[in-house]
Amino acid sequence: MGMTMTQKILAAHAGLDSVVAGQLIEAKLDVVMANDITGPMALPIFREMADKVYDKDKVVLVPDHFTPNKDIKSAENSKSIREFSKEQGLKWYFEQGKSGVEHAILPEAGVVVAGECIIGADSHTCTYGALGAFSTGVGTTDIATGMATGELWFKVPSAMKFVLTGKPGAFVSGKDIIIHIIGKIGVDGALYKSMEFTGDGLKELSMDDRFTMANMAIEAGAKNGIFPVDEKAEDYMKEHSVKEYKIYEADEDAEYDEVIEINLSEVRPTVAFPHLPGNAKTIDEIEAMEPIRIDQVVIGSCTNGRMEDMRKAAAILKDRQVHPDVRVMVIPATQKIYKQCMAEGLADIFVDAGCAVNTPSCGPCMGGHMGVMAAGEKCVSTTNRNFVGRMGHVDSLIYLASPEVAAASAIAGYIANPEKVGDR
Ligand code: SF4
Repeated sequence: MGMTMTQKILAAHAGLDSVVAGQLIEAKLDVVMANDITGPMALPIFREMADKVYDKDKVVLVPDHFTPNKDIKSAENSKSIREFSKEQGLKWYFEQGKSGVEHAILPEAGVVVAGECIIGADSHTCTYGALGAFSTGVGTTDIATGMATGELWFKVPSAMKFVLTGKPGAFVSGKDIIIHIIGKIGVDGALYKSMEFTGDGLKELSMDDRFTMANMAIEAGAKNGIFPVDEKAEDYMKEHSVKEYKIYEADEDAEYDEVIEINLSEVRPTVAFPHLPGNAKTIDEIEAMEPIRIDQVVIGSCTNGRMEDMRKAAAILKDRQVHPDVRVMVIPATQKIYKQCMAEGLADIFVDAGCAVNTPSCGPCMGGHMGVMAAGEKCVSTTNRNFVGRMGHVDSLIYLASPEVAAASAIAGYIANPEKVGDR
């Protein structure tokens, strides 16, 4: 029986000719990653198993969630992974000032490439599927095991195939497409499955679009999201990494639980309403409602803090002013993106429009710092989760959107259609 892309990668890493959905395997790991929340929890477990990590070039630690440290506890946590990285001689430890949000910095720094088997103690580790890798989030015990042994057991997932056709409209990006898909299948629509994206429409998607979509595969309950490796992906890896990559393709006769066709030309700018990423509403549906007034906008995160996101937001904010009732946080996802924003004049555009431009960090995405919300406040956010209390008080409300919808809303003071910014 044929295998999906994910199954082929897992079979190769388990040293098997083939695997089937549901099979339990032990796979070798190419990258094992943790952050300033999960790393400190994994270290005591690791210490019970080993003195040395299995490979100092493959264990990666990124202090990004509560950095620059917001309090003493977060400072202690960062200190513990900093000291561990030094002690173990880790090649990849991303200190503040050279760092960024983990799922943006790992591809950018060339740490992850196609064909790899990657685990991260963070649910959005699925992001690297954009490069044609198998990558998934795991818990701290699993990450400690991976750090010590370089192997981990997996149950081979079955898959859903998403055939993308057509060309998205001018203000439709990867964020709109993935919210549209999650709206269609539900937040458990791909439970423990691979979401494999394919079809002619892929050529219309930039790498940043693909990172955004793979990033949110977990929001549909998926084990991973994965894209075929085309010329764009190869160009990206050649530009960012010196690692050798391996391209896996799904077999013609691979089995899928479901095949869903998405015509990208029919996808509209789409927003996920509180409190689930699957509560999708198109901008047309939103425009037919009473205006949803907002207090805050966040443009950043591992979902939408990349260069293309910054450019799209800046194109809308240029020569315009943020609404007086709205505060806007722009958070480039990595130091390199931050610098590029300065070089291209985007930082000036953001500041002149009245935005706060913050240093790379997860920031308010999980209610950490730099934009925590009070009771009753509403935020349009380019992040990936709008669960109850995710960005602050349990009575605050999060609307997930693209950078363009977020920027248009920042100017309007309510959730707004980026297609109509010129009308105001
Ligand atoms: Fe998690 Fe948000 Fe940080 Fe992404 S930006 S890793 S979702 S906290």
